[in-house]
Amino acid sequence: MQTGPTIALIVAAGTGVRSGSSLPKQFAPIAGRAMIAHAHAALAGHPGIDRVLVVIGAGQEALLRATVGEVEFVIGGATRRESVAAGLAAIGDAGRVLIHDAARPFLPGAVIERLLAALDNAPGAVPVLPVADTLAMGGAALGDVVPRDRLFRVQTPQAFAAGAIRDAHASWDATAEATDDAQMLRAIGLDVVMVEGDSMLEKITFPADFAATEARMLPTLVSRSATGYDVHRLEAGEELWLGGVLIPHDRGLSGHSDADVALHAITDALLGTIGAGDIGTHFPPSDPQWRGAESGQFLRHAASLVRAEGGIIDFVDLTLICEAPKIGPHRAAMRARVGALLEIAERQVSIKATTSERLGFTGRQEGIAAQAICTVRVPA
Ligand code: MG
Repeated sequence: MQTGPTIALIVAAGTGVRSGSSLPKQFAPIAGRAMIAHAHAALAGHPGIDRVLVVIGAGQEALLRATVGEVEFVIGGATRRESVAAGLAAIGDAGRVLIHDAARPFLPGAVIERLLAALDNAPGAVPVLPVADTLAMGGAALGDVVPRDRLFRVQTPQAFAAGAIRDAHASWDATAEATDDAQMLRAIGLDVVMVEGDSMLEKITFPADFAATEARMLPTLVSRSATGYDVHRLEAGEELWLGGVLIPHDRGLSGHSDADVALHAITDALLGTIGAGDIGTHFPPSDPQWRGAESGQFLRHAASLVRAEGGIIDFVDLTLICEAPKIGPHRAAMRARVGALLEIAERQVSIKATTSERLGFTGRQEGIAAQAICTVRVPA
């Protein structure tokens, strides 16, 4: 049994030329978010993993930030082996290391558990699946069938005692390339045990793989909708923030944060889709740190909670209820801002407005009300 933290390395330094996209494939969207974000969430959210470090290519920092957020990373090398070595050098003290390819975005927690359990009795463990297809040699014509009963498809993450995999990398002949880290461990005479892999872990390489993987993934998701409602008082001397946009007006909304009634309603709707309470649960108005706070951070937090559950945000529809200001001139800016905060397209955001025919508190222009509905897909 190894002592020290268990650290996951996600190798994501490739340029992804075979995927047919100018965007490196690990940053391309699949099932609603960047490929690398799925693997990162699976590892970061697993109780057996203490820390996750992403190895990216030089110049991919902004792509990582835009797709996964502010996460720990290191710049890799020219080959996969060099990228793993850069990650191993960066992690410092470690007991166990899991090395995972970003091109395998859907990582079941059960695979992580099997790997960690196997490390109790071995310095290395890999997930494998049997080969189902007939395998044959071939050249100009079909040759002999290769018996497949002792052949396995090797997946990632590959799990190692940290000291053992560091030794394997240090001893490796740098003029040769390794297929994977497990072969490097075997090259220094250490055993790698096999645990059961998972078909969800199939590697995504070609354009057709994206659609096939999404088709395998998406039927397990169910649609949920939830609503949110909020009101803030209009007062002189306040700024008017609506939908993350500063709107010129003779009065503004007052409240503990920036009082953006639109973003608050959307935040509550989003929290509702995963039963995660309401905005006051997460950002209590009694807490002085939220005084004057920019409400975009509340919305980003709600979106991150939905995504941490494996959810996909499909649509947001917002209705603002006020006599003034006119919302129409600011609609496009609000859609863009809400879309950016939620990391979804503008066409997935609808902004509407109505008056209450001068009736009630909105009619008397004492305040502005907002109601929102969010639709997401989450694992069943
Ligand atoms: Mg509010």
